[in-house]
Amino acid sequence: MRLQDVHAVITGGGSGIGAAIARALAAEGARLTLIGRRRDALEATAASLPHAHVAPADVADRAAVEAAFDSARGAHGPISILVNNAGIAPSAPFARVTAEAWRGAMAINLDALFHCCQAALPDLLAAPAGRIVTVASTAGVKGYAYTAPYVASKHGAIGLMRALAIEYAATGLTANAVCPGFTDTDIVGQAVANIRAKTGRSETEALAELTRFNPQRRLIDPVEVAEAVLWLCLPASRSVTGQAVMVAGGEVM
Ligand code: NAP
Repeated sequence: MRLQDVHAVITGGGSGIGAAIARALAAEGARLTLIGRRRDALEATAASLPHAHVAPADVADRAAVEAAFDSARGAHGPISILVNNAGIAPSAPFARVTAEAWRGAMAINLDALFHCCQAALPDLLAAPAGRIVTVASTAGVKGYAYTAPYVASKHGAIGLMRALAIEYAATGLTANAVCPGFTDTDIVGQAVANIRAKTGRSETEALAELTRFNPQRRLIDPVEVAEAVLWLCLPASRSVTGQAVMVAGGEVM
């Protein structure tokens, strides 16, 4: 048990990659707080884990984030690990992106990291091995068409991790990003449905539009992303900071 009784907060812990991260950290003995908007999804993930507290909140709402982190501390004490995983992936041609859609992507994929990192910071700095891991994306290091707000916000997410890594390098806190390629979750399910609706292609053809980016020609399993996050959370990973770790089948070398 390499994270015995360590308190980890995971945003977006009710589904997909976040739920896989929750299971991976719990398997190493961590106590968890799961944050997301849908209480039922959080409780469904928490039900199978030994010490999982749920704190429903919209991570784009600063006051709600502060209340959720207070609730987290009330349940499990000071926070040692913050996993910024909540995110949305809207798609549209750039010319049709509305100001509201742009702001919405920035609010959840980037502003929320600012809110959560600041809310957890005093605890993370006091912890013997404070950890911030942000689930960014290959879209944080390269461009994709039809998803400009997502690409821009994920580039910003990696930039924030690099800034914090340098600013806190003399402390025990590390800050890193994990960058999955297309991963088998609801976000990809929605993307496949979108492609089908807009092009009339079959499910197999629509899926191939996404897997073609991965040299291994497959979707990433959320468990693979969770294992990379777990590794960065371990005390032994203290020399790894400011990194963007690709979990993408070789898509970005
Ligand atoms: P997912 O199952 O849709 O997970 C997204 C999670 O974020 C949900 O649990 C959702 O919970 C939460 N969330 C969204 N907006 C929120 C808000 N305003 N406040 C609080 N929680 C919010 O999809 P996923 O693929 O696991 O995505 C997890 C992360 O991986 C995202 O940051 C995504 O960008 C990144 N990623 C995914 C892929 C992929 O191909 N799947 C690839 C690269 C990176 P609620 O709806 O209950 O709030």
